[in-house]
Amino acid sequence: RKGIVVITGASSGLGLATAKALAETGKWHVIMGCRDFLKAERAAKAAGIAKENYTVMHLDLASLDSVRQFVDNFKRSGSPLDVLVCNAAVYLPTAKEPTFTAEGFELSVGTNHLGHFLLARLMLDELKQSDFPSKRLIIVGSITGNTNTLAGNVPPKANLGDLRGLAGGLNGLNSSAMIDGGEFDGAKAYKDSKVCNMLTMQEFHRRYHEETGITFASLYPGCIATTGLFREHIPLFRLLFPPFQKYITKGYVSEEEAGSRLAQVVSEPSLTKSGVYWSWNKNSASFENQLSQEASDEAKARKIWELSEKLVGLA
Ligand code: NDP
Repeated sequence: RKGIVVITGASSGLGLATAKALAETGKWHVIMGCRDFLKAERAAKAAGIAKENYTVMHLDLASLDSVRQFVDNFKRSGSPLDVLVCNAAVYLPTAKEPTFTAEGFELSVGTNHLGHFLLARLMLDELKQSDFPSKRLIIVGSITGNTNTLAGNVPPKANLGDLRGLAGGLNGLNSSAMIDGGEFDGAKAYKDSKVCNMLTMQEFHRRYHEETGITFASLYPGCIATTGLFREHIPLFRLLFPPFQKYITKGYVSEEEAGSRLAQVVSEPSLTKSGVYWSWNKNSASFENQLSQEASDEAKARKIWELSEKLVGLA
């Protein structure tokens, strides 16, 4: 049978390119978990993904009810789950004030981390039950959360501090909207959410890899300077960022190349090692990359796991 992969945020950018790359092999059926049904259908069509190779299912990660509904719908469909890719994200670098999810969590961490945390936890049983030769849970990370890199050192830097904002519910009322309890900064909130993504992947690995055989992985696909992620940025930035990445930092990758990288992490028989953060060198060869100190802090990973469980109603 074909492999069944769920990709969140597959209506544009990296998620769409990955869906296309996997569908084209003829070996995968892609379930596109998207908040805008029509946009996702149109995107799949425009990308030329054959009808029999994808299904769009509604999923709004900024609402925990929607996440639970998605999981119920998926279970009811009777389909097995072989690979789950947590890819969707929002980035609000110019926001002056925080905005919030349905449950009142700051939107970037609420969507990118908490929504995916609940989804991954609830789908773990489905993954466990799959009879596929290589079951995987992949959470897309980013270089920007890694302060051991040049890109990760562009201010404002990721910093989760002592997690007091997260512990307080990230609601901007009786707690800060930022994980570290500081003043709201949209660019930092995104980077913090990516650190949470990378820590969550490692915590999953420590808790579940041995028992389940599931491969847990994260990756930095390269700088895909053309995606919708930068849609909230000022026009001058959107104009200059792609050529800057292409010619100055040389970190630029096309959506197609980034999609083929994530597709490798989904399907390559050689990439089954668990607990790994994958990156690609200049020749587009994959390698196991090092994470920054904070993004590999075991005690913090455990604390984020426990606090997140409370916030999403699992504990
Ligand atoms: P895009 O903005 O193109 O794609 C993001 C996707 O997430 C869209 O499909 C969007 O849906 C979806 N999404 C946003 N909010 C929600 C929500 N509440 N519920 C469901 N889906 C949602 O950005 P990219 O493709 O660049 O980003 C994909 C991943 O790649 C992210 O995890 C990002 O952090 C990561 N990444 C990107 C890099 C880059 O340079 N672009 C570099 C490193 C990592 P909709 O179409 O409806 O808006």
